[in-house]
Amino acid sequence: MIELGERLESVSAQEALAWGLETFGDRLAIGTSFQAAGMAIVDMAARLRPDVRVFTIDTGRLPLETHDLMIEVERRYGIRVDVIGPDPGEVDAMVSRHGPDLFYEAASKRMLCCEIRKVRPLARKLATLDAWVTGLRRGQSAARAEVRKLEIDSANGSIVKLNPLADWSSEQVAAYNRDHKVPQHPLYAQGYTSIGCGPCTRPPMPGQGPRSGRWWWENDTRKECGIHFTPLGKVRRDVDILLEEIAGAVAIRS
Ligand code: SF4
Repeated sequence: MIELGERLESVSAQEALAWGLETFGDRLAIGTSFQAAGMAIVDMAARLRPDVRVFTIDTGRLPLETHDLMIEVERRYGIRVDVIGPDPGEVDAMVSRHGPDLFYEAASKRMLCCEIRKVRPLARKLATLDAWVTGLRRGQSAARAEVRKLEIDSANGSIVKLNPLADWSSEQVAAYNRDHKVPQHPLYAQGYTSIGCGPCTRPPMPGQGPRSGRWWWENDTRKECGIHFTPLGKVRRDVDILLEEIAGAVAIRS
C-alpha cells in the first residue's frame, strides 16, 4: 500500500481517479458537498465513467443554493445524486435537548451537531463502500497539510479514501472548472470561499484564510466537522458524553 501510495502521488488527478474507478468500480463513490474541488472531481469522474456514483450529506441545514446546485449537477451529468441524511430520532433528541442552534453555545455542542448531522450519516454510507473520493487539498488549511492522494480511512472500516486533488492549489481548481465550464456554487459569487451548513458559514473577513468563515465564532478549534479529522482530547470526551445523553433520549422514546 505504501508503494502504491507513492506511485499515486506522482500521477495526475485524472490518473489517480481512473485508478480508483477501475479498481473499485461500483464499490467506489464520490462524496461531495458541491464545493469547487468536489465539482472538479465530479466533472473528471463523469468524463471517465458516466455512471459514476456520487453521494452527498443533507444535514437539514444546507443553504438553498446547495440544493439548487445539486439539481443542476444531476441535469448536467445525467446522474442521480444519492442524498443521505441524519437519523431523525437523533436529530429530534438533540434539538429537543439543546435547541436547533446549539452549535453557537460551545465547541462540544457544535461537534455534537456535526457528529449527528454529518459524521454518523457518512459512516453509515461508507459502510456500504470499499472506497470513496473526496476533494481534500493540502493547501486548504494547516489541518489538511498532510493529506495524501491515497489514504486508508481508519475511522470508517479502513476503506480506501482517495483525494486526487491533494496537491492542487485553489488556482488550479478554479482553472479546471473555468476551462471545463463546471457549474459552481452560487454563494462563491457572494464572497464565500468555503461552504457548509447555512448557519455555520459566512464569507471570510479580509486577510483571513479560506476556511475562516466556517464556525467563525470559534477561535480555538480546527475548522473541521469531524468527517476528515476526529476531534481529540477534552472536546472529544465532552462530545462523547453529549452523544451518550442523546442515545439515552432516543432509547427512552423508542
Ligand atoms: Fe450542525 Fe453547523 Fe455542523 Fe451543520 S456545520 S452539522 S449546522 S454544527
